[in-house]
Amino acid sequence: MNKQPVYLLDLNSEELKAWVLSLGEKAYRAAQLEQWIYKKSAGSFEEMSDLPQSFRNKLQQAALLFTMTPLEDKKSADGQTRKILFKLEDGQTLESTLMFYENTNSHRERRTVCISTQVGCPVGCYFCATGQQGFVRNLRQGEILEQVLYFVRLIKNTVTTEDRELARKAITNVVLMGMGEPLANYENVRRAVETLNSKHGLELGARQITLSTSGLVPQLRQLAEENLHLELAISLHAATDELRNRLMPINRKYPLAELIPACVNYLEKTGRRPTFEYALFEGVNDSPQNAREVAELLKGINCAVNIIIGNPTASLEFKSSSLAQAQIFQKHLFAGSIFNTIRISKGTDIEAGCGQLKSRWLKEKDEPAK
Ligand code: SAH
Ligand code: SF4
Repeated sequence: MNKQPVYLLDLNSEELKAWVLSLGEKAYRAAQLEQWIYKKSAGSFEEMSDLPQSFRNKLQQAALLFTMTPLEDKKSADGQTRKILFKLEDGQTLESTLMFYENTNSHRERRTVCISTQVGCPVGCYFCATGQQGFVRNLRQGEILEQVLYFVRLIKNTVTTEDRELARKAITNVVLMGMGEPLANYENVRRAVETLNSKHGLELGARQITLSTSGLVPQLRQLAEENLHLELAISLHAATDELRNRLMPINRKYPLAELIPACVNYLEKTGRRPTFEYALFEGVNDSPQNAREVAELLKGINCAVNIIIGNPTASLEFKSSSLAQAQIFQKHLFAGSIFNTIRISKGTDIEAGCGQLKSRWLKEKDEPAK
């Protein structure tokens, strides 16, 4: 009877060891395999040159290294953003983005991957292209990790090897801000992040990994108890229940009076200062009064606000605010003593906004070019 091949990225270090032993191989072979996957960024079993050919043959038969195929690869005009649309084993698609940030006074050079955690999203925020596509399925642990490993390989294969620092840490940061709600796929996300962080895995610092959530309060409280201490971003977008209900249906389930204390609890338990994301949509949530409401809501909380110019979506209700409007909004937040920055979106020319590339791809698939 043919057994299904094991997708190695679904296994943590202990499980990988147990599986290698079950093949009749020595435990140190598991450590070598792990090195090839996470430290040496192997693209195939064949590349794993210090594994005996007999073991490599077994791996070919019994295991899968990668399951995702890039369908589209787009670079922004400034070369700073690269977006890949991947096809999954079951034919579903998802997108991931790589963003380069050069050295500035405020931070060192970064190479950040924005990854997806679900195909579609069950939360259904009205302004979000992914939310409006509906929910298909959770990503497996391996599919979450594979997105990061893909970009690690891409970078290592395109830079000169003399650049040791780059070769050592091709990716410096991971943000869980692509498609899907990470806390709605809790266990797979937790395990994937553990591997990103682990010394057996990619060894990314917890400070280099940011989880963004629309505010699933019970899971957020659970996350505060984990030994992960990730950076946390909360999609706020409105500071009153009345307005937030109009943007994010999740707010009816977990209103601000539950969400904000859960964020404060996260800060207390982990020491990580939450960042509240606030996308501005013209005439919807971008007035000085809206800004004053944010300042009132977050008064006295050690946090930051990230003001984003909203990406327009198919729905006519949500149009981008202007930069001038964002600056007025910012001024009112500062007046209320709220630390904040305006984030200039990267890669808008390649539809790098949440779910945008996939939206267009789905549309073209349904309506082939004439
Ligand atoms: N589901 C999680 C993470 C993925 S969404 C969350 O909601 O936090 C990543 C970020 O993109 C979130 O802050 C989300 O609110 C934001 N976003 C979604 N649609 C957007 C749009 N049209 N314009 C600007 N930001 C958007
Ligand atoms: Fe889902 Fe986040 Fe989009 Fe809301 S903003 S629909 S939670 S991906």
